[in-house]
Parts: sequence; structure tokens; C-alpha cells
Amino acid sequence: MSDKTHSKVWDYFTKGPTGEAVCNACAASVSQGSSRQKTRNTTNLWQHLRLRHNEAYVESQRQALHEAQRKAEALTKKTIQPTLEQVIDRNTKWNLNDPRTKELDKLIVEMIATDILPYAVVEGQGFKRVLAVAEHRYPQKSEKYFRTQLMGEVYSQVANRVKQLLSVENAGSSIAFTTDCWSGSTEALMSLTAHFIDKNWERVQVVLNVKAMFGSHTGEYIAETFLNLLKEWDIDTQRVHLVLRDSGANMIKGMRLAEMPGLSLSRTSWLKGVEHRETDTVG
Ligand SMILES: [Zn+2]
Repeated sequence: MSDKTHSKVWDYFTKGPTGEAVCNACAASVSQGSSRQKTRNTTNLWQHLRLRHNEAYVESQRQALHEAQRKAEALTKKTIQPTLEQVIDRNTKWNLNDPRTKELDKLIVEMIATDILPYAVVEGQGFKRVLAVAEHRYPQKSEKYFRTQLMGEVYSQVANRVKQLLSVENAGSSIAFTTDCWSGSTEALMSLTAHFIDKNWERVQVVLNVKAMFGSHTGEYIAETFLNLLKEWDIDTQRVHLVLRDSGANMIKGMRLAEMPGLSLSRTSWLKGVEHRETDTVG
């Protein structure tokens, strides 16, 4: 339906039998400007109303203005005016169990793990500033919260995934390992990395542990630590194809006691990229 037949002016006119406009008030026939439907317009009708029935004309203009204002207000309310609930929510800190808090907690702890960041990053001024602007409703946490409350869950998820990778179904019956011990002034660490070819014939390398060592690092202690690590990752000793290690006497002895097929790789041969076997005579 065209706007011409919809026009408010038709509240004051009626269409005559031959399509002409007949004034309701004075029965005058008023031209619509053209005999063709498409080019007809309401200019003459409005003019007739304004000149002959001015009171009705003013009233129709007043109604039109009122209607336009009402529509504009409704649109404003709908698009930009927030509800009271939204206003309050915008200015209130989320509580700890709010799903939005939990979502951000999760993303932050995963960021720490994925980017290998120190927990202290969450207490840094720079991080706090970014977060305060990005989402001031998020209740910021201490590093301890992420370390003690949240990282455990991330660790077990990753560990389960690593166990899947190491399973016989994916890694086959043989896994090779590299291991090394590192001694600092206050602590010592033992690393264990698994190497295998997966079911898609892709070479895979997974760092399984960097284990803190206590007491003196005797061959017995190393053997026990190594076997415990295998157990922790559900790896049967029968699947150990080779353990590549340094040529320290305690390491050689440890692998012998654990009955693991050990092989040394000296630092110089690392550099040359050439491996060389050593006879396990020490220990
Ligand atoms: Zn009239």
C-alpha cells in the first residue's frame, strides 16, 4: 500500500467514485495533482485543509508531531537506555562464583601455563592496570590463589592428555628418554623427556618432569627417582627403548641399577652432533 493512501490527510477526505478526493467537511472535490495513480500526491489536499479548515489542519499537525516524538522515545529506550539491573551490574564487582569471574580465572591460569609465566605476573602493576581497564568488575586475585586453587586442575588436564600421548595405542611399544641432572646452590633437579614416533609417524618429544631431588644424588637415588617417574606416567619399564644421559658416574650407575638401557652423550659430541657409546664401567 502506498504512503499516499496511508497519509493522515485521508482522515479529512474520502475517495469519490471516480477516484477524486472529496472533503469530509465541505464536500469539495479536490484534485490530487494527476489523473495517474502513481503521480498523485496530497499537496492540494493539505493546502485545502490548511486554508479552509485551519483548526483541523493544526490539530493534525500536532498529532503528527506527537506521534513522531513517541516513536523516537520508544526507539531510544529500546536501543540505549539500560535497565536498572544493567546499571547496577555495570558498577558492581563480580563475586567469586560468577561464571564471568570463573571464565577469566581460567583464562589467566591457562595463560600462566601456556606462556610459562611466573605466578607473580598476576600481581604485577602492568597486569593489574590492563585488567582494571579491560574489566573493572573482575575481582583480581593473588598469585597464591592461582598457584594453590587453580593450577592443580590445569595440571591434571594436561597430564591426562600427555598420558594419552604416551599410551601404547599412540606411542607404540618403544619410548626413548633423555634425562639430565642439574644442581644449583640450594636445590637439584632431574629432567625426563620422552621421545617417540606416534601412530601418524610423527616424531614427538614431551618433557615429562623436572623433578626436585633431595639428599645426595647417588646411583641408588637416581634409579629410584627414574623408576618412580615411569610409574607416575604409567610407562611400563619394558617399553623403555633407550635412556640417553650424561656420563656422570652416579647417572651411569643409576641406569644400571634401574636395569635401563643407558647411553651417554658427552657435551662435545652434542656440539658436533655425533653420539658415541661409552662402556658402563664406572659405579
Ligand atoms: Zn473542505
